[in-house]
Amino acid sequence: MTTAYATDPRFALHTIETHPEHAGRLRAINDAMAATGLAARVDMLSPREAARESLLAVHTRDHVDRLAVTQDRPARMYDLDTYVTPYSYEAARLASGAALAVTDAVLSGSAANGLAAVRPPGHHATPSRAMGFCLLNNIAIAARHAQRQHRLARVAIVDIDVHHGNGTQSIFFDDPSVLFLSTHQSPLYPGTGALTETGDGPGVGTTINIPLPPGVGDYGFSAALDRVVIPAVRRFEPELLLISAGFDAHWTDPLAQLALSLDGYDAAMRRLVNLASEVCLGRVIVVLEGGYHLRALAAGWCNTVRALLGDDHRDDPLGPAPRPNEPDIDALIGRVRKLHNLP
Ligand SMILES: [Zn+2]
Repeated sequence: MTTAYATDPRFALHTIETHPEHAGRLRAINDAMAATGLAARVDMLSPREAARESLLAVHTRDHVDRLAVTQDRPARMYDLDTYVTPYSYEAARLASGAALAVTDAVLSGSAANGLAAVRPPGHHATPSRAMGFCLLNNIAIAARHAQRQHRLARVAIVDIDVHHGNGTQSIFFDDPSVLFLSTHQSPLYPGTGALTETGDGPGVGTTINIPLPPGVGDYGFSAALDRVVIPAVRRFEPELLLISAGFDAHWTDPLAQLALSLDGYDAAMRRLVNLASEVCLGRVIVVLEGGYHLRALAAGWCNTVRALLGDDHRDDPLGPAPRPNEPDIDALIGRVRKLHNLP
């Protein structure tokens, strides 16, 4: 069985080169995929733009319409952080389409697992607005598609971007059929993701937030994974595991201070891949979110591709965080475990 992989050169059309979320991010990934030979080892898919109905499965009509009109207007800021260009709507629909193409490949059985190397990212996009560099919520669109087109009852989304995936959380906050787990630095943009945010109505208990203090490092991060994320996913018994993969928790990242190393990322990703083997026939799909230090992003992404290919090799050209601070997060993990009655 193969590893499906979707990306598209047209993502580069959505860019402002002086913005942290620029086309050079995927150029760095593409160059590293070619240089390591990994590009030749995956099953490369050509995505199509996601259909309007797929977007409307998670976004309001008003939000999609407001993005659609940006095609006829000059580039501008949508909010303080998020830009739109005349090509952004097309790129965003292709990013969602890439996540859908990989989902179809995995759920039809033509691939064992897969990755979507996409821009713009998606996890901050809420039902009704773009924010935090994100226009359409790619991973949420894929989760809904898995449920509606492939008849899955339960999907788990693990968000390891350093920022809280507020958009994904808000889309599934009252929905017990999608388990959303987020590890993120707190305090940090966008300010949501307190551990007391656990869902609403029938969805109470299927949102799990692990807000981590700055400097937590590999050890604390792996404890959060082992003691909260993994037991929660096991208990939920999803039929598909989706990962919002941001590489901005790396110690070199200019936007955050969580202080993970590439080895730490790799260990986390391999545990999640093993978890998918255990609970959902290995069906794991990784969707790119943030990551703003280009070497950390490219190396972290390639290690992730290797983990999905079942290749033991990994690269950590940047080494461990120089001055790990590693605050004790035992009490925090204990509170999250108690709140969610984790085994
Ligand atoms: Zn991020």
